[in-house]
Amino acid sequence: MPDYPPIHAPWRPAWSCLACGEDWPCPTRRRQLSELFGGDPGGIRRYLAVYLTDATTDLGHLSTLQVRDRLLGWCDKP
Ligand SMILES: [Zn+2]
Repeated sequence: MPDYPPIHAPWRPAWSCLACGEDWPCPTRRRQLSELFGGDPGGIRRYLAVYLTDATTDLGHLSTLQVRDRLLGWCDKP
């Protein structure tokens, strides 16, 4: 097996993390996004908004609000 850092990307259609199995974005991915966008919640929100349509389609058992809260809700929390 090659030794490389695991990629914390969403596994569809469950939207759990490919690397750690947590609900995506997992804590590691959230930390990476915070670093990537310098803690700018607006930048993180714009980035994650791209995923919202697909997530809403895949997670049909959740309401739009629940999907939005799962993907973006953590941005608003300190
Ligand atoms: Zn992960």
